[in-house]
Amino acid sequence: MTEYEAVIGLEIHAELMTKSKMFCGCAVVDTTVAAPNTHVCPVCTAMPGVLPVINRQAVDFGIMVGVALNCEIAPTNVFARKSYFYPDLPKGYQISQYEQPLAVNGWVEIEADDATRRIGIRRAHLEEDTGKSTHMEGYSLIDLNRAGVPLLEIVTEPELHAAEEVEAFARKLRAILVYLGVNTGDMSKGVLRFEPNISVRPRGSSELRTRTEIKNLNSIRVLRLATAYEIARQIRMYESGGFVVQENLGWDEAHNRTVVQRSKESAEDYRYFPEPDLPPLVIDRERVARLRATSPNCQTPSACASKPWA
Ligand code: ADP
Ligand code: ZN
Ligand code: MG
Repeated sequence: MTEYEAVIGLEIHAELMTKSKMFCGCAVVDTTVAAPNTHVCPVCTAMPGVLPVINRQAVDFGIMVGVALNCEIAPTNVFARKSYFYPDLPKGYQISQYEQPLAVNGWVEIEADDATRRIGIRRAHLEEDTGKSTHMEGYSLIDLNRAGVPLLEIVTEPELHAAEEVEAFARKLRAILVYLGVNTGDMSKGVLRFEPNISVRPRGSSELRTRTEIKNLNSIRVLRLATAYEIARQIRMYESGGFVVQENLGWDEAHNRTVVQRSKESAEDYRYFPEPDLPPLVIDRERVARLRATSPNCQTPSACASKPWA
């Protein structure tokens, strides 16, 4: 019988706890508490003719995370428009970074099976959160308090190989973000969301097979459960002579299984192009050096492991 190895890369969305939003002066609030649509303005509700302004503190927080993840901080960042339609994305596009992200080529160490393993960080880029939809019987409610909240998207290399390693990585990353003071780590409030990309291959092979992506998991327990379930499901597919289809999945809490959400879109579908309303963001070396010198040292495993939430 074939022995299988799981191959997993994570995409993580972390809200940055700045006072104001990514591109406007609205306050960043706890969206599980604030009355809906009370922290909105013409910019984050996408009125015609408005202009975004980059939040300096969000950039500093992004640099601090990039440094803690041992990344190179790019001297020039370019914001881009990522077009897609969601009722809670009033502009019809998200301002993100695409070809020139904030941070690249980092790594994080995790403890797995009594050994220390280094997991590569492919990139970390700045973007803005969407609003929140609440689906009722026959209609939906939209709250734009979260629209425009600064987000850091962190993408790992596909170098995790088990649900337990995914859990160890998630705990470590959460600890780093909380330790740096850029995120509360309160996953139940949606401020930190994990999306595992998962494939399985015969052990010993180095091919990257077709992957599925489980969207928006907001507890570490569910992240581990969903990852383990999906690995087992893919192995069953191959074992029964079937194949894995590339698609986005969600986690069905009631039945403890992954369910298909939509077929996967590709980068071309987003029609990325440089955001014409923002100049390239130049980050000088002194700024990186200053943040490196003043942020808590999170680079040694013990520095973070000694914190209560590690
Ligand atoms: P996108 O999902 O936006 O297309 P990428 O192709 O860069 O982005 O991959 C996103 C994540 O999927 C990364 O964390 C990467 O490591 C992981 N990944 C890519 N290919 C595979 C694969 N075959 N199996 C498992 N994970 C993968
Ligand atoms: Zn606003
Ligand atoms: Mg993806």
